[in-house]
Amino acid sequence: MRDFSKDHRWLSLNTATVRRQGDLSVIIEACARAGIRAIDPWRDQVAAIGLDRAVRLVRDANLELSGYCRGGMFPADTAHRATMRDDNRRALDEAKALNAPCIVLVVGGLPQYSRPGSASSKDIAAARAQVEDGIAELYDYAKSIGMPLAIEPLHPAYAADRACVNTTEQALDICDRIDSEKSGKLGVAIDVYHTWWDPALMAQIRRAGRERLLAFHVCDWMVPTKDILNDRGMMGDGVIDIPNIRAAVEAEGFSGYSEIEIFSNDWWERPIDEVVSTCISRHKSVV
Ligand code: ZN
Repeated sequence: MRDFSKDHRWLSLNTATVRRQGDLSVIIEACARAGIRAIDPWRDQVAAIGLDRAVRLVRDANLELSGYCRGGMFPADTAHRATMRDDNRRALDEAKALNAPCIVLVVGGLPQYSRPGSASSKDIAAARAQVEDGIAELYDYAKSIGMPLAIEPLHPAYAADRACVNTTEQALDICDRIDSEKSGKLGVAIDVYHTWWDPALMAQIRRAGRERLLAFHVCDWMVPTKDILNDRGMMGDGVIDIPNIRAAVEAEGFSGYSEIEIFSNDWWERPIDEVVSTCISRHKSVV
């Protein structure tokens, strides 16, 4: 397992962590001040300053990406399916322009939440089938432009509105059905927030192996959790044994960035440099 205590060369900042403190240009400047080498930007943040400018700022700051957030939201009624497909292809094109190593897929839940305007449905099995069909179709496009897809299983609390892929096992089952040869172009993003509780996590990380482990996201699980979306903790403030999970992914050969992704009303209130410096110190002492 890599020693993170000496420096923060393997820290990547998911830019949602400081999304309320400023736009992407402000975040990139803060990363430059702190010597952060990588980010994972969100599509809306890129759109807000324009893709060309985002590409230029990332390049000028010598930043790498650890991923691009995000594609997915596959379930849709027939009227919205073409929109979904086009939108996902655009997301992949943006990821390519930004030189991302993969695009993170938050796969969507029921169609009315995944693609607003879609007819309501309570059929989660149908939503899951649409997710798999959507990934299979997008995978062909992903291969054609060379952009790996990282399926991010989300905590089951998000099954209705964000992702009906809720365990690492479920995500890997999809990967195996679509990409049986383990091409390295389809895999998972392991986010400790979403997966720490899963009794099968360690076995599934071993099953994933190097080819399927495309991204690693960290934050912490607060007790009590006051808001299921926006009360994620700074590493060390909650109950997740992060080094134990990192050791497992690294034992399989994962050697990428440890990406800090914190949606938190609390941390969004604080000055950007304070958040970034806290991320760095916790990366060294807790992750
Ligand atoms: Zn994540």
